[in-house]
Amino acid sequence: MKKQGVNGWKALGFESYQEYLMSDLWREKREWILECFKGKCQKCGSKNNLQVHHKNYNSVGNENMSDVTVLCYNCHKEVHNGSRN
Ligand SMILES: [Zn+2]
Ligand SMILES: [Zn+2]
Repeated sequence: MKKQGVNGWKALGFESYQEYLMSDLWREKREWILECFKGKCQKCGSKNNLQVHHKNYNSVGNENMSDVTVLCYNCHKEVHNGSRN
């Protein structure tokens, strides 16, 4: 059972999303995610400056493939500039 609205990183003992992103736990998971997405940007196919984008923050700390995507630095920036805020 998953509680909605409770941030996963808090459940894992991290103070913030940023702290989670700097953890070994995330570093390992990130490697796994990059592998799952064939190590390339899902928007433009670039293999440089790849980053993992969380499509939602409910699953942070317990990510599924459907919760994340791999984007290069430029596409990632676009996603955040475009849709929200
Ligand atoms: Zn890209
Ligand atoms: Zn993002």
